[in-house]
Formats: sequence, structure tokens, C-alpha cells
Amino acid sequence: MFTTRLPMPGPGPEPDRPRGYGTAVPHTPLRPSWACRADGAPWPCPHARLALKAEYDRNLAALTIYLAGLLFEAMRDLYHLNPHDGPSPQQMYQRFLGWSPFRRPIVEPPD
Ligand SMILES: [Zn+2]
Repeated sequence: MFTTRLPMPGPGPEPDRPRGYGTAVPHTPLRPSWACRADGAPWPCPHARLALKAEYDRNLAALTIYLAGLLFEAMRDLYHLNPHDGPSPQQMYQRFLGWSPFRRPIVEPPD
């Protein structure tokens, strides 16, 4: 029997990175709002971006795969929370993947 319905994708990666150090609150996302657990900024916050870059410094492809999985999870959560005026797909892409080390430096060079 053939069907045109696609299977529902499974869950993405666990959002447990960047790892925390010592007793400090890690800069990991709080679901379903995807705000940083430590500072409340939209995740990945600047601190999380720096820590992720350092943590995945020797495997940037794995960082991109991790972030792409979390982008999928975040879109599912945020569009479920706010289906009519949530962030655009372009904004979500820039937030999760557009900053990645493959594309541009973490800090913009001065003019
Ligand atoms: Zn943070």
C-alpha cells in the first residue's frame, strides 16, 4: 500500500550545549521559548555562540548539524506557541545558522 503522507520527524538533538562550567548556569536554551537559561536573551545568545565555537572548534561540521537540528526543534516549539506572528523562517535561519563559523566571524570586524 502506498501513501503520500510523510512520517512525523523524530525529536532533534538534546539542547545541552554549550556545556556549563562549575556552578554557573549554562547558556543553554529554555524550551519552549528558546530563551537563554542564563541571561534570557534569544538563544543562541552571544555567550552561547562563543562557547559553542570553542567547544566545536575542531569539528565545525558537527556544530552546524547540531544547530540545524535545534533550528528544527525551535521552529516546531515557537510556531506551536505563536502560530500567527512568530519569527519568519529567514529570521530563524539567521538566528541559528547564519552566524555559524562557516559563514562569518562571530564578531564583525570594525569598519
Ligand atoms: Zn546566554
